[in-house]
Amino acid sequence: MHALLDDAVAKTPDAPAVRDAAGRWSYRELAEYGAAFAVWLRERGVRRGDRVLLQLPTGRELAAMFYGASRCGAVFVPLNPAMKSFHLRQVFDNATPALVVGDAASGPQLAEIAGPVRLLAELWPEVEELRARGAVAEDAGVEPCDVATLIYTSGSTAAPKAVICPHAQVVFASRALTRVLGYRAEDVVFCRFPMSWDYGLYKVLMTCVARCEIVLADRDSDLLLLKRMRETGATVVPLVPSLASMIVTLAAREGVAQAPVRLFTNTGAALPQATIDALREHFPGVRVVRQYGQTEAKRITVMPPLEDGERPGAVGLPLPGTRVLILDGEGREVPVGEVGEIVAEGPHVMPGYWRSPELTAKAFRPDPVSGRPRLHTGDYGSVDAEGYLYFEGRRDDMFKRKGFRMSTLEIEGAAMDIPGVRAAAALPPSERHDLALFVESDLSPRTVLKELTRRLEPAKVPAICRVLSDFPLTQHGKNARRELALMLDGSA
Ligand code: ASP
Repeated sequence: MHALLDDAVAKTPDAPAVRDAAGRWSYRELAEYGAAFAVWLRERGVRRGDRVLLQLPTGRELAAMFYGASRCGAVFVPLNPAMKSFHLRQVFDNATPALVVGDAASGPQLAEIAGPVRLLAELWPEVEELRARGAVAEDAGVEPCDVATLIYTSGSTAAPKAVICPHAQVVFASRALTRVLGYRAEDVVFCRFPMSWDYGLYKVLMTCVARCEIVLADRDSDLLLLKRMRETGATVVPLVPSLASMIVTLAAREGVAQAPVRLFTNTGAALPQATIDALREHFPGVRVVRQYGQTEAKRITVMPPLEDGERPGAVGLPLPGTRVLILDGEGREVPVGEVGEIVAEGPHVMPGYWRSPELTAKAFRPDPVSGRPRLHTGDYGSVDAEGYLYFEGRRDDMFKRKGFRMSTLEIEGAAMDIPGVRAAAALPPSERHDLALFVESDLSPRTVLKELTRRLEPAKVPAICRVLSDFPLTQHGKNARRELALMLDGSA
């Protein structure tokens, strides 16, 4: 991974590399800080393969530490600053880190769990000093199959699980994505996501491959979002649906010329067509790229940017050099257009979950004939004759009601199409409740349901509609379904 940075330094040392609210570094500076951190780690006894756990906000220092850990051969384990001690404890036991780094906010809870914690405010001056002395990191002999990072995801199990991400897979995916998305050297990629999520983390690498600049804007206030995008000259903005709706709401309110964004990319959850249309209205000429991915293989499909207006509902083509298969319950490929489990094959498929052989065996199963590693995503979809993927949802998102097979996604899409609905989440029928819809809106539930009957077949119109003024979101801006379900079950 750090070779990507070395390449950038060799070619464009003075080009801007990374910016946060406090300042900006060139590629040369980023590499120097990274190398100094590698030396710092080595001096503290960290060796190849050791885990370094960091619970820090996403800023320039964390980007430098990412490259520094890579150069030292250490495994970078970034945790979301919002992670609480209940989960931290499980993560700590699972990762058994050799070194733990926190800041003033995370330090106390980390210390309770992990014992000695290095605080950023104390270690950074030491790194600065090593950099000033021109300390050179010795070659740690890192191999492509070495683990570069562990990404903790919550997902379907109660305990957090870590996806093992080796250098080879990470570099393959970073290069492939930079190419298919067409990042350019003059781009400014405005990243609202923390480096503890792969969506944020890979942006650091992808901008390096393209030798463009990343703005780490995870901590900026929501209200200043568009102002920051304008100030920084953002040309590429990675999105999830909740961020997209926020941008649309702010842009409609401000009504001024927006940042020179040429590309929005979406992943994590489906972007409703109404949001795509609104983004295009506020950012004329922009491409809105639909994608589908899982940390377990980073990204699986990407819609070619020049085809962003075509095949509504498609989430793109497999990354070049990889394959998507749609399999039935017996592991047989289903015919074109039929729905089955989405299975990914290729050099982006990670080797498994850290110290979780059972979970690994379930999701990562070799091709029975060739033996090639495959990821069984647990998501459902279909491909068309040209190989474009259509995402139907997680197994849990799909259900039958009144004899119709449907997915929460189409109900949410229809709800988002109603002017005035800012967020929507549908919960499938369960033993305790019928099909339910939550929306964030100023409209009444009655109006929402009435509007939905104009957009959906009767069987798909929810029986229950709740209007919230504030929508619960996960740390990554996805709908917090578990909390919504609790709201429903816990109330009369
Ligand atoms: N890994 C996914 C992607 O980048 C993001 C996610 O985990 O939802 O597409």
